[in-house]
Amino acid sequence: MEPVYTLADLDTWSHRGTALAVLGHPIKHSISPPMHNAALAVMAQDHPTYGDWRYFRFDVPPADLPLALNRLHAAGFHGLNLTVPHKVLACDTIAHVDPSARPIGAVNTLRRTTNGWHGFNTDGYGLATAVTETLGIQISGTPVILLGAGGAARGAAVECLARGCASLHIANRTAANRDALLTALAPLAGDIPLHGFAPAEPPADLPVGALLINATSAGLHPEDPLPIDLAALPTPAGVYDMIYNPAESALLAQARERGLPHANGLSMLIHQGARALEIWTDTPVPVDAMRQAVQAAL
Ligand code: NDP
Repeated sequence: MEPVYTLADLDTWSHRGTALAVLGHPIKHSISPPMHNAALAVMAQDHPTYGDWRYFRFDVPPADLPLALNRLHAAGFHGLNLTVPHKVLACDTIAHVDPSARPIGAVNTLRRTTNGWHGFNTDGYGLATAVTETLGIQISGTPVILLGAGGAARGAAVECLARGCASLHIANRTAANRDALLTALAPLAGDIPLHGFAPAEPPADLPVGALLINATSAGLHPEDPLPIDLAALPTPAGVYDMIYNPAESALLAQARERGLPHANGLSMLIHQGARALEIWTDTPVPVDAMRQAVQAAL
């Protein structure tokens, strides 16, 4: 497995080729390095220039993010991914936030420019591509029930509205966070019905045949409560859980028991990564190699 680096390692940085990295805190769980390095190895077969590209991971505490972004730019890094807790923090720090990422207020992919970093958000693309690939559902025209009101939920909600979902219902444990998200989304919704509800009290008029997306972290640990009880909802068309480790959350186990199409977040991880690599290379990327690498890493 790729070592975990810190900013101190930049003092003696010896990689002479093109460098990419993911920054997070903690970061030791990240499987992005094997995913991207596997793709780069395949790309190097047709384009030898990628033979000296390498993707690293850095543990960067939030207070050090501005320093880290400056130092990695000065050290010549070509692209960065950002994960928890940096996606929102970086928006105030980088030179340019892509217009597509501004409504989300978070960036997960930075591309080097001469003046600094240009930030993108590929999570929404990753989610939409994954939902179509794994569940056969197009978000456009489909009612969506979204669980969560954190960063991942916000990105998912903006993507669903941008793609013209039929309606968007958002449930979250903390009502104040849900309502803040609904307020932020209202200007983006246009004619799309946008509603909130408490996960313990689903309203009777929720749509049948919705795409249910779990964007909460409930399910990461065995003792976590279900983010929602599927038995209390009209039958959804499919259940997508952004969590991929464990591979089957309690929510996905319930979906399986009820015979519902369901998928975990591994496909989203792969497709957000594939889009990031396309942004850095302007080249089509080998998604299957990325999939094999993350499956092996897990
Ligand atoms: P945040 O910390 O920003 O938000 C966490 C959300 O989960 C909040 O809505 C919070 O509710 C809710 N929550 C946390 N614990 C519980 C619980 N015990 N019961 C019910 N709700 C709970 O995290 P992110 O939005 O960044 O990430 C959310 C999930 O999405 C994580 O599991 C993350 O791993 C996953 N993810 C997966 C990706 C992929 O590529 N597959 C990409 C990005 C994220 P409250 O407001 O009440 O605190």
